[in-house]
Parts: sequence; structure tokens; C-alpha cells
Amino acid sequence: MTARVGTTGLVFEEPLIWERSRSGRTGFSMPRRDVPEAPLPPGLEGEAPDLPELTEVDVVRHFTRLSQWNVSVDTTTYPLGSCTMKYNPRLHEAVVALEGLRTAHPLLPPALAQGPLRILWETERFLAEITGMDAVSLQPAAGAQGELTGILVIRAFLARRGERRTKILVPDTAHGTNPASAALCGLRPVPVASGPGGVLEPAAVEAVMDEDVAGIMVTNPNTLGLFEENLKEVAEIVHEKGGLVYCDGANLNALMGVVRMGDLGVDAMHLNLHKTFSAPHGGGGPGSGPLCVRAPLEPFLPVPRIVERPDGSLDLDHDRPLSVGRVHAFYGNFGVIVRAWAYIRSMGAEGLRRASELAVLNANYVKERLKDVLHLPYDRPCLHECVFTDRNQIPRKVTALDIAKRLIDYGYHPPTIYFPLVVRGALMIEPTETESKADLDGFIEALRAIAAEAEAEPQLLHDAPVQAKRRRLDEAAAARSPCLTG
Ligand SMILES: *Cc1c(COP(=O)(O)O)cnc(C)c1O
Repeated sequence: MTARVGTTGLVFEEPLIWERSRSGRTGFSMPRRDVPEAPLPPGLEGEAPDLPELTEVDVVRHFTRLSQWNVSVDTTTYPLGSCTMKYNPRLHEAVVALEGLRTAHPLLPPALAQGPLRILWETERFLAEITGMDAVSLQPAAGAQGELTGILVIRAFLARRGERRTKILVPDTAHGTNPASAALCGLRPVPVASGPGGVLEPAAVEAVMDEDVAGIMVTNPNTLGLFEENLKEVAEIVHEKGGLVYCDGANLNALMGVVRMGDLGVDAMHLNLHKTFSAPHGGGGPGSGPLCVRAPLEPFLPVPRIVERPDGSLDLDHDRPLSVGRVHAFYGNFGVIVRAWAYIRSMGAEGLRRASELAVLNANYVKERLKDVLHLPYDRPCLHECVFTDRNQIPRKVTALDIAKRLIDYGYHPPTIYFPLVVRGALMIEPTETESKADLDGFIEALRAIAAEAEAEPQLLHDAPVQAKRRRLDEAAAARSPCLTG
């Protein structure tokens, strides 16, 4: 039970129970029977299953109430770093719900699926243009699966050349999924320390690059929100020794229409459509992590490939002997891809560029307006996100976790904390381009107020959140042994 003040000012107790079943309730009505009653076939008689008994209104109220307890992009600023929680225009929902798209069966022969195939084909072409790469596979269902597919493709390419390299370079500012993806492909990640400016130094790469290294996985912008300005030089060093350059492009929200990784020497990269290209995400919902490659890697992409026949029709090509195989059923998460297509079509080249410019402007605005109260480890222009630490608050025994939890009381989703790992006590803020200046100011004022509280009344932060439905949770236990009903 938790005490709540209702809109009338009355305090009432609200039961925090999930189990709302009451014996005898029912949420459906069957038409009157107009055939004779018949016994159940053998094997089906016996006890009825123990299902919840609820009326329709019980169910609607339960789920509506739960949705209102939830924090979402549709209710507040959601500056979760590295996740690009931007607003998703409703237009894309209308497009994906068009009957011809919603009802298209994935097993339709290509001749009867020209519309959906055209959308997939165009999305591949758009993404190739945006990244400066030659070919795209839309199959991977997430960023991490895009990485895995990319490294499988690189490994197959090297094997075809008769090489079995065993290592891969991964800078300390890469996303955590990078070394995991490489390791899953049997490559041993070799860490490379970033320089004092927070970016890769060519000399550090030169020192570890040899003929046993398959390549490098660079997150750009990196997890400090900084542009890897030496990437072109780094790519030359890696290519010189026969390696390939993989770019984790999950955070393209800073770069769309501004710089193309293909022009910087990148051989393969993935994008996160569910971040940059405006598909709702969170809670592990469906995503899409297309893999974009240069022409020499194209034969190794997953099958089937969408190909244009001389008469202009589209077809599926399964005859790719060098392919690494399928990584997803059919063509990937079609609904997510359609939303990305609608986003790209409605924004246009100019609009995409403007979105990235505003995302970068907003992050720099937040950085400049908070750096006198929160410690900024790398005081230089950032891209789509800025990384602070809790160093100024630690003497008052206030940590990044306390600051994040207190933000909930102010009505905001917390930023990412304790990531990237290269910064102690990190608070990683990604405002995105869809926040207005007024909304950013509200968020900044909340963090400034929290910094003042940390000085004057640190206990407030230790106790936070007090306005939320739940206080601090054991998040590890919640993930490992979830209790879904009570
Ligand atoms: C989000 C993210 C990933 C992982 O993407 P998923 O879709 O969650 O698998 C990888 N790299 C970077 C830089 C990211 O921000």
C-alpha cells in the first residue's frame, strides 16, 4: 500500500497489486448457442485451466494505470545517453499501418510483393547514400546483431583471402557490445587506450596493429560523445597491415548528412534504425541494425539479397555462395524498416542534416549550462551527447546514482550512468533534437537544483526517488529473477 494525495486533496491508500482476478468475473459474451450440445473430444475433458477471471473494464483500467506509471518519451524529456530517445512522429505509425503493408505476408512471391520490396530496396539505397557505403543488409534486428553480422562478414572476407587472423582492436571508448560481438566470432579483443583528448591516437593503433589483427571496431561518435577525428589516419594504418575498419554507427544522430563514414575509410558499419531513424524503442522492443558495407564485402552479406532485374522489377536472390547465411527470418523487422523509410522520406536530405545539427547544438547547450555545477571531464565541443561525472558531489557523499534517482522526483528520466567506463561516476546526457529550448531549460534547472540540494541537503538525494511508485530497486535481481505478477 502506498499513500497518495488525490486531486481532491484526500489521502487514499492505493493497493499496488497486480493480481486482480475475482472468481466468477468474465470479460466476454458468447453468442447464444444454436447447435446441439456435444461432448468434448476425448483427451480434452477435465479441469479447466487456471486463468485469471476479469471483466473487460478491469483489464483496460489495469493496463491504462500501468501505462500512466511509466515514464516515456511521450511524457517527458528522456535524456538516456547512447540511446537517442527522441520523439517518434505519429505519421510513421500511420504509414506502417497502411493495409497493403500491414497485411503483406512475408511468404508472398516477389511478383506479388513489389510494394514492400520497393520500400526495403529504397531504404537500402538511402542508407548506403547516408553512410557512403555500397551495399546494405536490413536483416540484423539490433545494433549488436549488426556488429555480429559485420564481424562475420569481415571474417568470411579474410578467410576467402586465405587468412585466419585471431585478434581485433577495440578502443576503450567503444560501446560495450563491440568486444562481445567480436568475441562471439572467435576474435580476441585487444583494448586500445584513447588519448588525453578522449579520442583515438594513431600512434596507439600503430603500436598494436600487426598481421594477426583482423581490424578495428571504432564507435564514432565514441561513447564520450566525441568525434573520432583521427579515424581516416587510423584506417590507413589498419589497411596498411591488411586489416578492415568496422564502425559502430549506432549514434548516427550526430552525423546524418554531415559526414559519411565511407569517406573516412570505413569498410563496414551498422546503424540503429530504432535510435536515429525514429522507431519507438525501449524495453527490448523490436529494433533494426542494418549492416552497410563497401563493395568488396557485398558477396558475404546475408541471403537473400534484394536485387533489381533489368525490367525494373525487384526480386530476391538466394544464390550467393559466399554469403554468411541468414541472420533473421525473412527480411528483418519489416515494421521498423518501414518507419525508418517514412522518416527519411518525410525529412529529406536537408531535414536529416538539420536534425543532426540540432542534436549536436542541444547537447552542447546542456554541456555549457551545467559545467559550472557538474564536473566535465573533457571540456571540448561534443557531438550528440555530453558526459559529466559526480566528482563535485562526491565530497558530500552524493553519487551519480543519487543524482539520477533525484531527477525522477523532478519528473525526468535519468541519463545513462556509470557509462562510459573510461570515466569514473559518469552521467551521460543525450538530449536529442526533438527537445525544445524550453524543455531543455526545465531539465537543466532541475539538475542545477539537484546540485544545490547535494550541497545543502544531501539526504534528499540519498532518499530519492520519493515521488515514484517504487523507491530504489535491486535492478540486478529484478533482471535475473523477474516477478511478473505481484
Ligand atoms: C545502442 C548501441 C549499441 C547496441 O544496440 P542494440 O540495438 O541495443 O543492440 C551498440 N553501439 C552503440 C554505440 C550504441 O549506442
